Amino acid sequence: MKVELLSYTNNPKEVIYASARQCYSKYSAYKIYTEKEKISSTKLKEFIAHLTKRGHLSPLEHISFTFAVEGISRVCSHQLVRHRIASYSQQSQRYVSMDNFDFIIPPTIAGNKEAKKIFLDTIDYIKSSYKKLKDIMEVSSKIEKEKINQDLRFLLPQAVETKIVITMNVRELMHFFSERLCVRAQWEIRELAKNMLTIVRKILPEVFIFSGPKCKQLNYCPENFSECKLYKA
Ligand SMILES: Cc1cc2nc3c(=O)[nH]c(=O)nc-3n(C[C@H](O)[C@H](O)[C@H](O)COP(=O)(O)OP(=O)(O)OC[C@H]3O[C@@H](n4cnc5c(N)ncnc54)[C@H](O)[C@@H]3O)c2cc1C
Repeated sequence: MKVELLSYTNNPKEVIYASARQCYSKYSAYKIYTEKEKISSTKLKEFIAHLTKRGHLSPLEHISFTFAVEGISRVCSHQLVRHRIASYSQQSQRYVSMDNFDFIIPPTIAGNKEAKKIFLDTIDYIKSSYKKLKDIMEVSSKIEKEKINQDLRFLLPQAVETKIVITMNVRELMHFFSERLCVRAQWEIRELAKNMLTIVRKILPEVFIFSGPKCKQLNYCPENFSECKLYKA
């Protein structure tokens, strides 16, 4: 899995500050932002940490992060796109040929010789069926490649590798992390969430220092699963 940051909102701390101060100031956020209401960088960090702890989260929605992700399965991306307060652009299986597609093999299967063989044989079988079907369709029908691809993808396994661009605002990222960093979340989306958190924590530590599985904020496990001992009992 590869998770790379494409971009994020300029001057995130200053934008958060101006947005939050807008609630209490007679001046416009523009004036607060451009004239930077005299505040030291230490005070700015404290202000943002306080805002986050207090749960005054709307100012965080003005900051977005855009990631380029590759090397995840469609199992993972399907869970990801259930998060609706976000934007996605995903590699198409119509416009991009899936001949000899890459795939993700779960560690539990990769670590078991017999299971791995069954998995790899099945992938080979699907690849060869995909190719045979494609050859037949291309010869026997006059429909364009893209239309053939759109039907051939019905054969593809959920293990197929995908590439996706994700944009989430800070508030949604916090929510995403709280759901997907839980040890009960599926391993692949958990790894994705970990990678994303590592990146954003470097840019906005004041906010993302508080991010983690939801038990960290709740101080109990909503899944009633305490063996992981992640939260303080
Ligand atoms: C451990 C785990 C297991 C899961 N198992 C299943 C499963 O078996 N089957 C299944 O279908 N899904 C499952 N899900 C997916 C889950 O139900 C959510 O669809 C997914 O986590 C997206 O989160 P979200 O709804 O908070 O969406 P986000 O888009 O991240 O939304 C953020 C928040 O905005 C608010 N919001 C967004 N849209 C609405 C709306 N339409 N109405 C009201 N409030 C809204 C909610 O407060 C929501 O929490 C699972 C998720 C997890 C973490």
